Amino acid sequence: MIGIICSGCKHSTKPNAVNQLVSSVDSSSGTQPQNTPAQIMAKQQVPVLCYHRISDGPKSEYKISATTFSSHMKILADSGYHSISASQLYDYLVYNKILPEKPVLISFDDSRVEHAAIAAPVMEKYGFRGIFFIMTITYNKKNYMTKDQIAGLAKAGHTIGLHSWDHTMVIKYKDAADWQKEVAVPKEKLEKIVGQKVEYWAYPNGVYNHNSAVELKKYFKLSFSLATKRDSLLPLQCVRRIIVPECSPQGLLKSMHKSFLGKTKSN
Ligand SMILES: [Zn+2]
Repeated sequence: MIGIICSGCKHSTKPNAVNQLVSSVDSSSGTQPQNTPAQIMAKQQVPVLCYHRISDGPKSEYKISATTFSSHMKILADSGYHSISASQLYDYLVYNKILPEKPVLISFDDSRVEHAAIAAPVMEKYGFRGIFFIMTITYNKKNYMTKDQIAGLAKAGHTIGLHSWDHTMVIKYKDAADWQKEVAVPKEKLEKIVGQKVEYWAYPNGVYNHNSAVELKKYFKLSFSLATKRDSLLPLQCVRRIIVPECSPQGLLKSMHKSFLGKTKSN
């Protein structure tokens, strides 16, 4: 199971202002008015990128070179994009909190070692932070992050999310024992490693259905799918992302525009 892959900015100019806007809000208090699912569906979608492997060699939808990854981060910074956290995205969707100009959420699936070794240092050079979705069966395995590397990402200001125990798709969970094994237990163990709550989920292979979204809402503030149609009753449990393949920096910007700008109710 280890070899499975998904099929599935903080720009340095104003980080303090952005942090103040968000940290002044206690989104867990439950006392503020919250947007309805219909209101959330009607909001402008924020581009969410999904990266997998970063290494040289034959390219695929799930693997890009380190040089290409660096060029992607550079054009985002040069174009005035600001990386945002999943928490900022949640507060925008639910409480209409203001995001920085040109927001983008940068995510990584499958706990690959190059996420800590290559991606994070490049992002940090531009003042960006991302979210890393961990399948916990990979702890300390060859080519995957160690527990210390995962904890290190959290310490550096990145967010750690869960991507199941062994990458089994949620639509295959048959009973409570499966939910325990794939979600509840790994969530708790991951929280101990990073020393903070794990509040975000990425669907293995991007696949979900309404019933699984209902269940995941019990565990996570946001769940991330891929570029598929959203569940209009549970938009927080199917936030759209695009997989970023090997492509030019200009190609990345074009894909972001095409997939997210102007997209609201119909997607
Ligand atoms: Zn995956």
